[in-house]
Amino acid sequence: MATQKGNIGVTTDNIFPVIKKFLYSDHEIFLRELVSNAVDASQKLKTLSSVGEFKGELGELKVSVSIDKDKGTLTVSDRGIGMTEEEINKYINQIAFSGAEEFLDKYKNDAAAIIGHFGLGFYSSFMVAKKVEIVTQSHKEGAQAMKWSCEGNPEYVLEATTRNDRGTDIILYIDDENKEFLEDSRIEGLLKKYCKFLPVAVVFGKEQEWKDGKYVDTDKDKQINDVAPAWTKKPSELKEEDYKKFYRDLYPMSEEPLFWIHLNVDYPFNLTGILYFPKIKANIEPTRNKIQLYCNQVFVTDSVEGIVPEFLTLLHGVIDSPDIPLNVSRSYLQSDSNVKKISNHITKKVSDRLQEIFKEDRKQYEEKWDSLKVFVEYGMLTEEKFYERAEKFALLKNTEGQCFTFEEYKTLIGESQKDKDDQLIYLYTTDKEHQYSYIDAARTKGYDVLLMDGPLDVHFLGKLEQKFEKSQFVRVDSDVVDNLIKKENKNKVTLSENEREAMQQVFSSQLPKDEKRDFIVAFEALGADNQPVIITQSEYLRRMKEMSAMQGGMSFYGELPDSYNLVLNTDHALFKRVISEQHSSCSDTLSPVITELESAKSKKAELKKKHEKLKADEIPSAEKEEVEAIEKQVSSLETQRNEILAKYAGENKLVRQMIDIALLSNGMLKGESLSNFIKRSVELL
Ligand code: ADP
Repeated sequence: MATQKGNIGVTTDNIFPVIKKFLYSDHEIFLRELVSNAVDASQKLKTLSSVGEFKGELGELKVSVSIDKDKGTLTVSDRGIGMTEEEINKYINQIAFSGAEEFLDKYKNDAAAIIGHFGLGFYSSFMVAKKVEIVTQSHKEGAQAMKWSCEGNPEYVLEATTRNDRGTDIILYIDDENKEFLEDSRIEGLLKKYCKFLPVAVVFGKEQEWKDGKYVDTDKDKQINDVAPAWTKKPSELKEEDYKKFYRDLYPMSEEPLFWIHLNVDYPFNLTGILYFPKIKANIEPTRNKIQLYCNQVFVTDSVEGIVPEFLTLLHGVIDSPDIPLNVSRSYLQSDSNVKKISNHITKKVSDRLQEIFKEDRKQYEEKWDSLKVFVEYGMLTEEKFYERAEKFALLKNTEGQCFTFEEYKTLIGESQKDKDDQLIYLYTTDKEHQYSYIDAARTKGYDVLLMDGPLDVHFLGKLEQKFEKSQFVRVDSDVVDNLIKKENKNKVTLSENEREAMQQVFSSQLPKDEKRDFIVAFEALGADNQPVIITQSEYLRRMKEMSAMQGGMSFYGELPDSYNLVLNTDHALFKRVISEQHSSCSDTLSPVITELESAKSKKAELKKKHEKLKADEIPSAEKEEVEAIEKQVSSLETQRNEILAKYAGENKLVRQMIDIALLSNGMLKGESLSNFIKRSVELL
């Protein structure tokens, strides 16, 4: 045959500048394209043989990749179907390449999109080569071996040649800017990335052995891939150990997975894969082990965002689908309806599997709950569909380590934790150690307390509050136990107005002064056996602060000081003692002030009452002045009273001791205050 010269049939002048210039990212994928073509050619031959169209010997169908450093070439060889002269003309020389400019402009940074759009798999070799040769011999009987070559311009040369065997060599003369692709380690790395699970053996270099104090090559080809990875097999063929081994192959450095799902769908799309539930630590770290996406065992990507719902990106493993196009851009993937269906399907499979394990082996499921929890909560927070499914297997865990479904828990607390308005109150703690005394008080009262110390729990309980009817989540330390769940018959505080004001002053004068904390003194009749003083924190304000802290940046709530209640138990003997001691030791100085204060207050009230019905200009000015004078007198008398009480309180060890005990049980007593407390305790003993 005479040498044929011609121009590659493209509608724009020249595709090579495009390939070189625009495809400057992702150069490495040329290797994936060439090896995939070689694998395809091998598999096609296998198919032809199996249907009897190819009658020759199949032999060993491997794909070999080799580097010749002296010649500066990288070669991909196969023993597949090969190409006839006609086929080269048809498949290589004619490239549909219309509407190029516009498309290229849009996707100039996205090599995958361009290659996919124009079907440029083979031509991507020109991203890294100044010259490419194809030496090929078709499997067809009596076919002439052909050599095609092209130096990165529209002209090619096609001529007859000889080849020992059927199959194809693609020979790349690597250009100066891409010398890295002549390095063994680079090529081996790329083959391991893209070709690790291709269905035909891919070999590169030789196996080595330790001999005479060094590694030397053996005769044996080094195979890169596992041609039948676990996900391509039937679940019935696999044992637990096989799944674990495959996980180790994928992520050699990782802990054993909790469990896995073998995906196998053939309608309405094709999808296989294995997804693993990893052990998740308390804080969600950006996952290093990502789900890998394959298309017919060719690695496509490990950024699957958009293909699987975000919460599923916490899973590990492999998804393989010929329906996920190999060479398309990310934005295209996300809008593709097949991809959407796949995403919904995976979500369903995952929830089905969880439900199944929960039903079949609840004990095992509960043991793994701590790791599963983040994942399930994340899903429930972000995917409404998943929430609906997970309602049946999501668990709530209490401080005793017992697990309940939502339904079970509702039954458990339904009787005892309803408040007077029929609201069901879910009590929870975020820190079992820190909030111990509150948990203890709640449990003593017969309440149950949930442990909500996970990273998503604050959000999650907000979600549950929206979902559960007539229910509220209340942290155990947000109020004294009797107020956590407000019942009808509450004990009344029996303090006179004077006692109340006096005690208010006595205790608030001794509270720590701190810009970041506000304390409000409150009174509750909690029973003689309960704690004398308790510190609580408002549920609402605390949650607002937590939310704003999570969202970063300081908001209105973020800047407020933490607000606490110092609740005094008016039934407690110690409190009664403070009242009576205060009476006896201050009455001499205090009584005259109080008498005067009371008479001033009643005079003021009298005048106010008289003025109530009058308009401002009808009030005689003398009386207006009188009111002002009395107000001044009241406030100065109050100051006097407060000073007397503060002075008394400052000298009274019992008051300080009671406050400090409450602070201590909240971990708020530190440094000097703590050492003063210890000294004072010793003195009191
Ligand atoms: P695609 O693989 O998407 O069709 P390519 O540009 O990679 O696009 O390849 C074009 C065609 O060239 C292939 O469809 C195939 O028919 C042929 N071809 C490429 N490489 C080989 C090979 N190693 N052996 C046989 N045929 C090949």
